[in-house]
Amino acid sequence: MELYSGYINKLIEQFEKLPGVGSKSAQRLALHVINMPLEHVERFAEIMVEARKNIHYCKECCTLTDNEICPVCANQSRDHSTIMVVENIKDLAAYEKTNKYNGVYHVLHGAISPMLGIGPNDIRLKELIKRLEGNIQEVIIATNSSLEGETTAMYISKLIKPAGVKVTRIASGVPVGGDLECIDEMTLLRALEGRVEL
Ligand code: ZN
Repeated sequence: MELYSGYINKLIEQFEKLPGVGSKSAQRLALHVINMPLEHVERFAEIMVEARKNIHYCKECCTLTDNEICPVCANQSRDHSTIMVVENIKDLAAYEKTNKYNGVYHVLHGAISPMLGIGPNDIRLKELIKRLEGNIQEVIIATNSSLEGETTAMYISKLIKPAGVKVTRIASGVPVGGDLECIDEMTLLRALEGRVEL
């Protein structure tokens, strides 16, 4: 015998597809949605669809944006000759929150991981190399200090050094395996200021 109606089961199945949501949480969320006022559910679904349709990669730095060019890349008062390479948007947000970095970014959307089968072509590296054709003074590699982050940093440095661009790596004040987004602003700034040339 089915415990729930078909629609509840379908809803539970959808929630279970989300990262970090087990079957118990999926049941709880599904039942919560059933009890929400209809207009709230409609608005929620609408925003999800609209967000998915309208958000895309910034043409320059690959961060997610509603516009063709994200606000950081569109800001002419920022130093467009310094690119900080980060693994994801959360890392970009962490550095933006410090209000101390005036360059631009490049978001890789991942890191190289031979173990997980993620290679250089699976992250936004080609787009970074393309940007080096412009007037770039320095590329700061701010990938995480995990194995994947270090592998990615090494790979990028080998790839772009022949182009004659200065390549630096943020200092290892960032704890090993630490996600950039969880680290406080002071540590981030120290890591940035103490960056070393590769
Ligand atoms: Zn951008």
